[in-house]
Amino acid sequence: MEITRRDFIKCSLVLGGSLLIPPSSLYGALSNAELQYPAYAKLEVEGELALRVEQAYSIFAECQLCPRQCGANRQDGERGFCRAPAKVMVYVAQPHFGEEVSLVGRGGSGTIFFSNCNLRCVFCQNWPIAHEGQGKEIRDEHLADLMIHLQKIGCHNINLVTPTHVMPNILNATRIAFHKGLRLPLVYNTSGYERVEILKLLDGIVDIYLPDMKYMESAKAAKYSSGASDYPEVTKKAIIEMNRQVGEHRVDKRGIAVRGLMIRHLVMPNRVAGTKKFVKWVADTLPKSTYVNIMNQYRVDYKAYNYPEIWRAITAEEFLEAMAWAVECGLSNLDPRSVTIYNIYSRQQRRGTKGDR
Ligand code: SF4
Repeated sequence: MEITRRDFIKCSLVLGGSLLIPPSSLYGALSNAELQYPAYAKLEVEGELALRVEQAYSIFAECQLCPRQCGANRQDGERGFCRAPAKVMVYVAQPHFGEEVSLVGRGGSGTIFFSNCNLRCVFCQNWPIAHEGQGKEIRDEHLADLMIHLQKIGCHNINLVTPTHVMPNILNATRIAFHKGLRLPLVYNTSGYERVEILKLLDGIVDIYLPDMKYMESAKAAKYSSGASDYPEVTKKAIIEMNRQVGEHRVDKRGIAVRGLMIRHLVMPNRVAGTKKFVKWVADTLPKSTYVNIMNQYRVDYKAYNYPEIWRAITAEEFLEAMAWAVECGLSNLDPRSVTIYNIYSRQQRRGTKGDR
């Protein structure tokens, strides 16, 4: 089912508001300090950020940064499952206008795409970067300069894409950039495959967590994400920890995200992602007003062609049922664009049904 530009604009204006919380109602909960300074500023002033950088870097000696816990000595040039060196590798740093609306604003989300990945899914859309490791090794000072550049050109945040395996470099670069004037919040844009022990090192540094929740069944996770059978259980714990650290999604007067948890869930063909279980888990475990983005943009990429269950796009019906489950569970802060798409599909279906009569 195709969405026309006219449909999208009309539904955004006319139909899309029913499930949304207006930005101004969330803005009131923020203190002036929270609005002016990112979380890491306070930690640096307290002298804690330098300690965290040291602690994080020490993990490279026997890498346990992610649930794979390879134990590779990355300081000595060994590479673990993610194939990442000790130096940070970056593919591109640029404003991105395709992220969630509250991250994009007018100036864009300042995305930094890191090379390599600790999950490596068969349907990866960034496979040249994540699987093949395309990108350039740079020093932490250079990474700090990229952050400053993104701030200078008007981005609203530093959006760290696939950050898990380079977390120590990110902390160090953030500290360097802070002293050069960085004041943007950090967005930790992760597959969700994170260890709680490691996330605790980010407490008070990251303002916005943007994790995926890809599957609810370990057999699916193992099959499509390189044997990561513990993904559902590990990621659930990680998301609970993220919520503890930053709480619910909050925006400033302009509607720009300044803090909080935003969960992404990609609907997959043939219910592979376990969407019904996912929305129920969120509703039972986290506040019902947790920001959830039910995404419809699954496409067949990389090696997905080898798996009949996932070698097609999702249907409108699959997306509609996913959104309906979320609403039935009482989730009240669904991503505005998903709501708009839901409304468009529903309208098109109603038209189609009428046409059939
Ligand atoms: S970050 Fe990479 S090297 Fe470290 S434990 Fe994970 S997969 Fe292994």
